[in-house]
Amino acid sequence: MGFAEIVGHAGPTRLFQRSLAADTMAGCYLLEGPQSVGKTTLAMAVAQAASCLNPLEDPYEACGECSSCRLVASHSQPEVVLIPPAGDSTQIWQFWDRDGRPPGALQHALQFAPAVGRRRVIIIERADTLTEGAANSLLKSLEEPPSYVLFLLLTQSIARVLPTVVSRSQCVRLLPVPRSAIEARLVSLGVDPFHASMTASVCQGRPGLAFALAEQDSKEAETVVRFTLEMLRSSLLDAPRLSEALRKMAVVRKIADVPIASTVETAAGDDEGSEAAPRDKAARSTVGGFVEGMMDVLRDIFRLRVTGADADITYAGCRTELQAMSELRTPGEWMAALTLLDTARRRLDQNAGIGLVTDWMVAELIAA
Ligand SMILES: [Zn+2]
Repeated sequence: MGFAEIVGHAGPTRLFQRSLAADTMAGCYLLEGPQSVGKTTLAMAVAQAASCLNPLEDPYEACGECSSCRLVASHSQPEVVLIPPAGDSTQIWQFWDRDGRPPGALQHALQFAPAVGRRRVIIIERADTLTEGAANSLLKSLEEPPSYVLFLLLTQSIARVLPTVVSRSQCVRLLPVPRSAIEARLVSLGVDPFHASMTASVCQGRPGLAFALAEQDSKEAETVVRFTLEMLRSSLLDAPRLSEALRKMAVVRKIADVPIASTVETAAGDDEGSEAAPRDKAARSTVGGFVEGMMDVLRDIFRLRVTGADADITYAGCRTELQAMSELRTPGEWMAALTLLDTARRRLDQNAGIGLVTDWMVAELIAA
């Protein structure tokens, strides 16, 4: 991944490009920024550009084609080393040979000029987890690394990094990325504009989180389509099994730490009984969300039935299967199915039992 593909972080990117072009790189940088904001991604772009044998000059960028670049792309450039913590801390034996441990990453590396690329790059993924012993063992190397060695230290908070390490580093701060930049990147990756906008607004400026959510979204979308199509092809005998499967799958939608469901939840209104447990409310909201996904599938089917194969649809990736399904019922029957799902969604909002609603909905949809 080159500088051009970094989402946001224009300032830090320019800083590294200029320093590389002018050959004024410091020996050690400390990149600070929130989780998933793009620290490792930027560090890898710097590492690739710094070790590239044939870089482009203006703006400075890795060529992407030399032997070093190709090895970086496959995560196998032996002179670009990423050191994550071993458990909760980053320990001395990860850098220097110690009895009974795997070889230390720096033991023999620092005194030899690189043979594959133009630099040796050592990325320490969580500088705040360096033990005091490990940090002390690095100080001299951080302060006066050989000219062909570049240290890139990453942390969520400089305040948690030992001062002896901070004082030997040039600090670079990565700020949350503007929503519009994340949204534009998601759209360019093929995410539909509505979901791109939703995802960009909940990811709090962290592109890594946005990409993870978008991937989960696309898997979920596929799940909803598969499930809806399977249900429409099933017989009434399968209804109880499908109803249970729906309730289980809906629960998978809950994403830890991201209040993605909260906006959906408020749509349920305030007339929900005050005795309803929060847990029940959450389950109601996730099952309701799944039913809404199924409504999107049925809307697609309806559009394909009425407008034909070129209709503008949400689940364009499943067009062929949806088109085939659309032929099996009349437009009026598809409209009735949509109304049925809408009723189920409203009953969930109105506190009807989740099991009762899904059992009824699945059976009616199959029988319709
Ligand atoms: Zn290259």
